[in-house]
Amino acid sequence: MHYYVTLTTKCNLKCVYCYGKAIEDIDSDFGGYEVDYSIPSEIAYGIDDLKRFLSRDPDATLVFYGGEPLLRIDKMKTIMDEVQAKRYILQTNGILLDRLEPKYANRLHTILVSIDGDEETTDRNRGRGTYRKVVENVNLLRRRGFKGEVIARMTINENVDVERQVKWLLFNEDCPFTSIHWQLDALFGKKDFERRNFKEWSEKVYNPQIRRLVGFWISHMERYGEVLRLYPFVGVMKSILTGESTKLRCGAGWTFFNIQTDGKLTPCPVMAGMKDFYLGDIFSTEPQKIRKVYVSSPCTECDLYSLCGGRCLYANVTKLWGERGFKLVCKTVENLIYTLKEAAPKVRKLIAEGKVSYSDFNYPKYNSCEIIP
Ligand code: SF4
Ligand code: SF4
Repeated sequence: MHYYVTLTTKCNLKCVYCYGKAIEDIDSDFGGYEVDYSIPSEIAYGIDDLKRFLSRDPDATLVFYGGEPLLRIDKMKTIMDEVQAKRYILQTNGILLDRLEPKYANRLHTILVSIDGDEETTDRNRGRGTYRKVVENVNLLRRRGFKGEVIARMTINENVDVERQVKWLLFNEDCPFTSIHWQLDALFGKKDFERRNFKEWSEKVYNPQIRRLVGFWISHMERYGEVLRLYPFVGVMKSILTGESTKLRCGAGWTFFNIQTDGKLTPCPVMAGMKDFYLGDIFSTEPQKIRKVYVSSPCTECDLYSLCGGRCLYANVTKLWGERGFKLVCKTVENLIYTLKEAAPKVRKLIAEGKVSYSDFNYPKYNSCEIIP
């Protein structure tokens, strides 16, 4: 099983789509669900409790998460010293990465670093100086011997030109990222829907850019025989090629769980404190007996379900933008999936010609990339 270990809910940045939204939505409800606001801001259970819980799961992947997890480097290192896991992953804003000694950093399987593209774009969303510090730190990580995957994790909204910024991150010499994943800034808050014109932006800007990016991704394969590791494309194309159908691709609630700071288990960190989705706790629940929770309507009746997987459990249960807003986001999923389906014959031809291979579309599932943006 896979577990987010939320080390702290505090953060050292104030990004517009996270901090800004939290302020804007301070008095909003979460789709009518009761939320426990008394959860401690710092990890408050004993490492022995975590150790005991995970000793019954020989296949555990731990993802250190926050807030900003590196604000609790001490706890992270203690866990890596004392708690056995198959893989450790870190999801970070990258600002404090230089403080993590190679002895620990180099044991991480994957590091996901938040960055939205070039300096101007990243700093506009995440604060002045963020881009430089993050890029410096990731380069340092490489110089210190980190060999694993470093995924640039972008948040896409009207401030980010996804086509241009993905290319920037892929080909800029400064940027030592091996892969890119992005997620739409959509359905996380309640009040931003009225303020933004998501419909117009997604139809006129985002969806056409995704279609062009898929075209570029395929041309790159044709020209260089390389499958660029753009997670939303690789993950969906893999399913199209193999004919597999998928459950919720982020894994939340069925193979991925969040250990919130008081030791209770929720499907994912975004659902921390949502009492209806408490699935057990590390003190008394066996890993194999964690209550499972799955997306429901409208995803389960949707024609795209077997490839989409339901996109996001949190969005599915809260529907913070109402039915209309939810459907608008589904249109972006439809655009992504249909564009990739249309491109699949070209990929199959490239495979038949030996230019790329099926294995180029393999990726470690449930590594904290949601696949569907
Ligand atoms: S496209 Fe929308 S309704 Fe369909 S499965 Fe995905 S999230 Fe659910
Ligand atoms: S996609 Fe939704 S359910 Fe999955 S991890 Fe992200 S917020 Fe949680």
